Amino acid sequence: MRPTRATAALALPALVLPLALATAAPAAADPVPGGPWVCGAQPISLAGLTSNDELAAELARLAARHPGIVEVEEIGRSVEGRPLEAVTVGDGPRTLLVLTQVHGDEPMGTEAVLQLLKAAAAPTPAGAALREGVTIVAVPRINPDGWERYQDRDFADGLDPRRNANDIDLNRAFGPTTVDLALAPEAVAVQDLVEATEPDLVLDYHHQVSYTTEGTDDLVTMSVLWGTHPDVAPDVADDGRRAVAVIGDSLARSGHAEVTLYPRSDTATTARNGLSLDGYPTVLVEQRGQQEVGQKGHGALVREALVSMRAVADSLADGSFDAVSPGDADLLPERGDRVRENC
Ligand SMILES: [Zn+2]
Repeated sequence: MRPTRATAALALPALVLPLALATAAPAAADPVPGGPWVCGAQPISLAGLTSNDELAAELARLAARHPGIVEVEEIGRSVEGRPLEAVTVGDGPRTLLVLTQVHGDEPMGTEAVLQLLKAAAAPTPAGAALREGVTIVAVPRINPDGWERYQDRDFADGLDPRRNANDIDLNRAFGPTTVDLALAPEAVAVQDLVEATEPDLVLDYHHQVSYTTEGTDDLVTMSVLWGTHPDVAPDVADDGRRAVAVIGDSLARSGHAEVTLYPRSDTATTARNGLSLDGYPTVLVEQRGQQEVGQKGHGALVREALVSMRAVADSLADGSFDAVSPGDADLLPERGDRVRENC
């Protein structure tokens, strides 16, 4: 059920304040893995993250620095009129589409994809190999209106920064959605881009809260899942499973990360299932929450997201993606219990 404006407003304190404040101390039986954690009233500054104005400037700079290599195109406008920009780097035969920040308060995928775009545009042998093998298309920040509220901590209008300015959850506006799409121009812009670019793979970056890997006390770095709706074509689901396996492998090599499967849901109107139902393999990536790790954890979140998206881009570019066994995705552990800080 969609919360009313009033219930969304009532829910805001939990969003505005660190989650630590909204929760009691853990019960003695709860697992309490190491951090980093945000404790008590420790303020979390979001000033170091890319604002909407900075994002527009950054993309313009990238295009100006690499003419003919980086293309930036406005694909629509948000409810409040902010530009939605798609960036294309490379002209390889496979197309990877990276979506970030469809929920306005889930920002780190945006920071990571900016780094991926810079690496792909770089005048280096690695950059050239990437561009020749894969066309990277990114929409860095699908919900700029939500981010504007969240980064500025401006909740005076009672809108949930996760949703768009018409109070729509954009991640329920895909596939056979019943959302009035006139109220969700951001989702329409993404849907149009998908149909225009026909991506071989879509990665959709989000944040969850803090969980352990099932059967362990280890904190989950990210949880991932392909299009699992029963009507998704088997070859489409298999490409999603290949991407999940590549992501799991890439972070296992980094030594510290815990990648799990995300709990299965057949909700058809998420980007993961909705775009997969349309024939575009789409993987949901849910990183640990930036509000729970605080500034100290931001660098790690960006690195982990970047490792995952770069590994998928590289595997598409060098052709190794097709040799990945879809069944390798099933080797990832399940996500376990939610855990809270122990401060
Ligand atoms: Zn999300």
